[in-house]
Amino acid sequence: MVEQKWLAANPHIVFAPAPNYPPVEFFDESGAYRGITADFVDHITETLGIRFDVVQLANWDQVIKQTRQGKVHMWGAAAQTRDRQAYMNFTRPYIRLPAVIIVRREIKGELTMPQLVGKRVVVIENYATQRYVQENYPDLQLITVPDIETGLRMVSFGIADAIVATNASAIYYIEKNGLTNLRVAGESGYEWQLRFAASRAMPELISILQKGLDSISEEKKREIYRRWISLEAPAWKPSRELIVLMVALFSALLIAAILLWNRLLRRRVAHKTRELEDELVARGELERELRRLATTDELTGVKNRRHWLALAKGEFSRNLRYDGSLSMAMIDVDRFKRLNDTYGHAVGDRVLRGLTDIFRRELRVNDILGRIGGEEFVVVLPETNEEMAHAVLERLRIAVEQWHCKIDGGEVRASVSIGFSMVDEQVTSMEEILRRCDLAMYEAKGQGRNRVVNYRIIADRRPPAADRVSVLRSLR
Ligand code: GH3
Ligand code: MG
Ligand code: MG
Repeated sequence: MVEQKWLAANPHIVFAPAPNYPPVEFFDESGAYRGITADFVDHITETLGIRFDVVQLANWDQVIKQTRQGKVHMWGAAAQTRDRQAYMNFTRPYIRLPAVIIVRREIKGELTMPQLVGKRVVVIENYATQRYVQENYPDLQLITVPDIETGLRMVSFGIADAIVATNASAIYYIEKNGLTNLRVAGESGYEWQLRFAASRAMPELISILQKGLDSISEEKKREIYRRWISLEAPAWKPSRELIVLMVALFSALLIAAILLWNRLLRRRVAHKTRELEDELVARGELERELRRLATTDELTGVKNRRHWLALAKGEFSRNLRYDGSLSMAMIDVDRFKRLNDTYGHAVGDRVLRGLTDIFRRELRVNDILGRIGGEEFVVVLPETNEEMAHAVLERLRIAVEQWHCKIDGGEVRASVSIGFSMVDEQVTSMEEILRRCDLAMYEAKGQGRNRVVNYRIIADRRPPAADRVSVLRSLR
């Protein structure tokens, strides 16, 4: 075979790829030759059992320069142009990559090349696209940049409006640099047809390369494309600003929720507190009412028998300790049975209440009034000697005498008999002082009722009647 012979005679074929044209061909960080074309080259060299001397030059300009100087014999991914054809032979194209129009996402809708008139359009210097655009759209205002990365950034940052570039390369750099505000807006009409090229000085080489390419199956070609060209739009990646914004928004929402919850809680606590306070007030009222019921006489509202006795005993023992003057009195309504019988029990009750009002009015604040029987009342008169007690009780008796209770078709009058005694050294118990009051009251009844009797006047005159003893005992 001619080719085999030729290969044996030319063991050093210098191959200079485009140094930075991903994903078509490029050198990675470790200096390894990679990309779509690199995969094709691997296949060709494996199939033919040859190897190339791969050199990494600074840029495409250098590649062209050194080729013209005869130092480089072969290219991997070049567009076929008239001037290049002067010194290079080309294979048939093995990759077709459309050049597309890329704009910022804020520019909506599909775009065609004529619509770019008046806009700042970026193309990459010395690339075939530059020539294509210049020749076909002379009205466009073009900005040339040394590489696609710079061009994409200019569009992303708003320095330019659009870039015309290879779809695959653009997607590669958009993903790499996270330029998520860019999108493909339309086709430029230009298609890169990449071919292998070999120096015109080596006509055997181009047919070897074409044979190598032809030996690669369609399935294998598709597999290589798929490996390097992502057919999907660049995956959406949130920018740093967006992340910060989202975090801030989430935090604000969280804080708002906490504040709201707090307010609800405070409101509920306040409500519950009010309820408890109301309940406390209600309980206090109930307690006071219960205490009142336990200590007062229901009909007249004065102290009941038990409560009066407790208070009276307190006054009595205090008087013993401090040796002051203390008087007590017993008040009994005259002929009350007859009043009840004549006017009825209800009128009797009204009379009892009316008399109680008089007692309250005539007695002083410190005097302790109690009801100990049906129409029998008792009074403790603290700090009160005989004369004063007599004066108070006499005033009370007269007030009753002058009072009347209006009833249907007339009025009802009443009178009281009052017996009283001062606590002197002979009185050593409550029982004794009550006995004295009772005797004095009994004396008042005997004298014709409606009068006040001081026990001292009847002292030693007569013993208590038998039926009164039981009453006194019950008061103990
Ligand atoms: P005296 O002048 O001797 O005291 O005659 P009196 O009728 O008042 O004496 P007595 O003790 O015999 O009668 C008391 C009457 O008081 C008997 C009872 O019908 C009446 N009474 C007792 N408690 C009540 C009451 O709560 N309401 C009414 N309306 N009457 C009562
Ligand atoms: Mg009586
Ligand atoms: Mg009576």
